[in-house]
Amino acid sequence: MTRDVDLAIVGSGFGGSLMAMIAHQLGLSVILLERGKHPRMAIGESTTPLSNLLLERLSATYDLPRLAPLAKWGSWQRAYPQIACGLKRGFTFFHHILGQAEPLAPHHADQLLVAASPHGGIADTHWYRAEVDHFLAEEAQRLGVDYRDNARIEALDLTENGATIVGNAGDEAFHIHARLLIDATGAGGFLHRALHLEETGFPCLPATESLYSHFRGVKRTEAAGETPPYAVDDAAVHHVFEGGWVWVLRFNNGVTSAGVAATHAVADKLALHEGAPAWQRLLDLLPGLQAQFKGATACQPFKHLPTMSFRIKTIAGQRWAMLPSAAGFVDPLLSTGFPLTLMGIERLARIIHKHRNSADLAWQLQSYAEQTEADLLAASRLIGGLYANMDNFSAFTAVSLLYFAAVSFSETAHRLGKPELASSFLLHQHPGFGPASRVLLERACKLHGESDTTAFAEEVLKLIEPFNLGGFGNPTRHNWYPVCAEDLLHARSKLGASREEIIAMLDKLGFWA
Ligand SMILES: Cc1cc2nc3c(=O)[nH]c(=O)nc-3n(C[C@H](O)[C@H](O)[C@H](O)COP(=O)(O)OP(=O)(O)OC[C@H]3O[C@@H](n4cnc5c(N)ncnc54)[C@H](O)[C@@H]3O)c2cc1C
Repeated sequence: MTRDVDLAIVGSGFGGSLMAMIAHQLGLSVILLERGKHPRMAIGESTTPLSNLLLERLSATYDLPRLAPLAKWGSWQRAYPQIACGLKRGFTFFHHILGQAEPLAPHHADQLLVAASPHGGIADTHWYRAEVDHFLAEEAQRLGVDYRDNARIEALDLTENGATIVGNAGDEAFHIHARLLIDATGAGGFLHRALHLEETGFPCLPATESLYSHFRGVKRTEAAGETPPYAVDDAAVHHVFEGGWVWVLRFNNGVTSAGVAATHAVADKLALHEGAPAWQRLLDLLPGLQAQFKGATACQPFKHLPTMSFRIKTIAGQRWAMLPSAAGFVDPLLSTGFPLTLMGIERLARIIHKHRNSADLAWQLQSYAEQTEADLLAASRLIGGLYANMDNFSAFTAVSLLYFAAVSFSETAHRLGKPELASSFLLHQHPGFGPASRVLLERACKLHGESDTTAFAEEVLKLIEPFNLGGFGNPTRHNWYPVCAEDLLHARSKLGASREEIIAMLDKLGFWA
């Protein structure tokens, strides 16, 4: 098989397939090469309001209407009930001390519940990647993308005119010349290996490892006492303890994704590399979680990642680029992987559209690489601040509020048609937020004692005040934050929006159940 194409994409996770569909809609001839075969298990499942906004925007901009229903739980259930996913109403955090019984702390001092949607209809989702990625790869083929699975690339030659890729897909040998190459192969991926690209770490982020699987028979958490802003399990549930955290994500097909991310010190103590026995050891130290997993069975082999975060020094070249997910990864905490990947796809789509035949393509790709790196670093500073405070939940909560204030402000600004108010990920380039939040996040890594934590939390509230649309830090909320239209209406001047504009935006969103 010999092909001469505009674009070759290696890797057909959701990122590669989506990029392929968009490039096809822009009129490019596209070949998509996948090492494996769908359906297959993949990790990285939890979406956020920002990732769903990006998906919605990509589907509208590039005329991909069949993807739009995937951006909300309600529309997904109506359009594609056969594709498994989970309902994600928000972010649930529980704080633990390993090995200790867990009495409920007064005023939810050991919890943080942040709703991301007012009801299930417009809620976020967890993607059951085996089925979602399969669907997207089929959609790409349905549009006309040339898709080859079981692909093994044996040789790559990059020149100023593009890439020559030689290998085989199943029994068929291929020889492809592509004017542009995109690496969508995720961590430890194709170009990283083929070009022997150098890796570097993230400052302020401890090295971590991970152990995870999919389970059947995981019980639901019953909330005791007052009614929380949403069912606490219909969320990305984070169980945080010194040096690590556990995620629990429920799908609607009886499967639950769960795993642990931990510093090497904690991972060594638990001997995470041993897989199932290590998971059991961890549950033994977390009585509440142990009760939830009693009788549950792993339905996938446990997977141990000895190193989770990575950052590649060179993200793009003259005629090639990596998706952000191939260029680096910080941690599953706060689900930044999807939005980073989707922002990268959006940027590359613009470059392909406007510059693919222009002399400044290489310069544009370089600028893409710089933005990607800056976004990854912004995520790493935030997550580093969280890791530094997993034993100090008040500080952990304060750092989290930097995230929630930034992302809810950004989402609302974009939904109001005012993207200029929030043009960078986590507002890291916003003059009124970025530099000051950076200083606070550096400080978060070296807090000493209760009074320092209290002073830090006050500084955080002061910084987020002009961006705070969700009543974050309001002491009467006791760490439970529902999504309230009143909060938004009250804070509308922060967005320079009128009451009518806010109500029209909420109507369009389907805010009222
Ligand atoms: C433990 C863990 C949990 C995570 N949780 C979340 C989360 O909750 N939310 C979130 O937003 N992000 C999360 N992430 C990040 C998320 O996984 C990634 O952002 C996302 O998977 C990127 O999708 P992708 O399609 O770009 O790459 P991938 O999903 O990695 O897909 C890459 C594809 O390329 C193929 N491939 C690999 N090598 C080759 C090759 N040489 N040739 C051809 N094909 C190849 C693979 O088979 C695969 O199909 C998590 C990551 C980890 C490690």
